[in-house]
Amino acid sequence: METEANSLYRKLPQLGEVLDSPGAAKLASLYSRDLIADAARAVLARMRQQVKAGECDEASLELALRGLFEAIERELAMRLKPSLCRVINATGVILQTNLGRAPLSRAAIERIGEIAGGYCNLEMDLQTGDRGWRDVHVESLLLNLLALRSGEPIGSLQGRRAVAVVNNCAAATLLALNTMAEGGEVIVSRGELVEIGGGFRIPEILQKSGAVLREVGTTNRTRIADYAAAMTAQTRLILRVHRSNFRIEGFTQQPRLQELIELGARHSVPVFEDQGTGCLVSLDEYGMRDESSWLESATSGAALISASGDKLLGGPQCGILVGDCGLIDRVRANALFRALRVDKLTYAALDATLFAYLSGADSSIPAIAMLAMSAGDLRRRCELYVEALQSDQVAAEVVPVSSLVGGGTTPDATLPGFGVALMHAEMTENAVAALLRRLEPPIVALTREGRVLLDLRTVLQDEDADAIRVLRDALNGPVSPTSAGG
Ligand SMILES: *Cc1c(COP(=O)(O)O)cnc(C)c1O
Repeated sequence: METEANSLYRKLPQLGEVLDSPGAAKLASLYSRDLIADAARAVLARMRQQVKAGECDEASLELALRGLFEAIERELAMRLKPSLCRVINATGVILQTNLGRAPLSRAAIERIGEIAGGYCNLEMDLQTGDRGWRDVHVESLLLNLLALRSGEPIGSLQGRRAVAVVNNCAAATLLALNTMAEGGEVIVSRGELVEIGGGFRIPEILQKSGAVLREVGTTNRTRIADYAAAMTAQTRLILRVHRSNFRIEGFTQQPRLQELIELGARHSVPVFEDQGTGCLVSLDEYGMRDESSWLESATSGAALISASGDKLLGGPQCGILVGDCGLIDRVRANALFRALRVDKLTYAALDATLFAYLSGADSSIPAIAMLAMSAGDLRRRCELYVEALQSDQVAAEVVPVSSLVGGGTTPDATLPGFGVALMHAEMTENAVAALLRRLEPPIVALTREGRVLLDLRTVLQDEDADAIRVLRDALNGPVSPTSAGG
């Protein structure tokens, strides 16, 4: 035994020999010598380990050595694989925060490409050559769009409202509260002291902003009189928070935004609304209701409104503040704005997204197209999957599904459609779902009643061919020991 292992060890090449051979020269066009050396060392160490454990004989070692450079290349590819990668979202949750929320439109992607590769007039006024504001790039587009969609004359918001864009809606809310209410009191209904996912809690953000929370009313009912009774000389702001990801049903009461604005006006206290969704389309068309409207808020007398860029607006991650010009000036002058501002790529994508709405091309925005996708179209796509995936190993079937908007919007509304249910002869549904997450590209699916469920509403149509190919290969290939069982 001892002598046989020794003779096998002698067959293993030295690291130097490996690095000086033609196989390594080929890899050198792709990877640095240090990286190749490190990967080769790891592969040789594994082989030595196998010899030591008595796991190879002469023949199997020779075979392994013949594939040495392929093994080194695989090792390199595995080590250098980017952590962030594209995935196919088959969950049916359109604004899935864990999967990056809204996919961008073609136009937004192209604009990012155009701006990213060179210089741009991010903060320069090209007319005068003077320093400019980065927010001007989306301001007039957004103001025109908000006016147009709420049936007001184009240009009617110019000069009255202004826009500031920051990293996300949480940042916008923090910045607004800090600018308007640091050191003073903010009145909020107890029914709106919510947590919005990812640890964004209204009371905590308020505290961080340096303002003091003055809660009024109860969880289910708050009256305008509750707000009025809480007004003091320290009151700086009335805050209205869109409840986002949950809903209070039954014995409830909440003043309308307009009532809060009127009360505030009597006391010279402004109203700030954390609206959230940034929705510019009518959800009624899709059988859903939204209790708050970005359009109504932005054109109301609320002093400031915050919304997310990557929720129902369907644009890049950002937080958009629309408000009175004087207030937006104060927001921009706040040192926090400098810390929370966005880069040129965000403006590029946001600008292109807003332009799509302005030109009536709403359906070029993937999130909106997904909302609007008809059950008939979904069923036809599902049938293609079923036909391609059905086999001795796999039972595939078209089934009705309910998609969700997600991203903390319309929590109880669902979109009826169709999906593909899959059952594998030798694997549990959880094992299949895990296998799908390891594919290239990974596919994230749901599991339901012993089956894996692919909701195609959130699978982009140009991903269908890829998805079908990788699914067919994975599900009908040999079952590897790690993917079998539960
Ligand atoms: C989603 C949401 C937020 C947080 O938005 P991000 O863009 O994720 O930071 C804040 N407020 C409301 C009302 C929301 O719906």
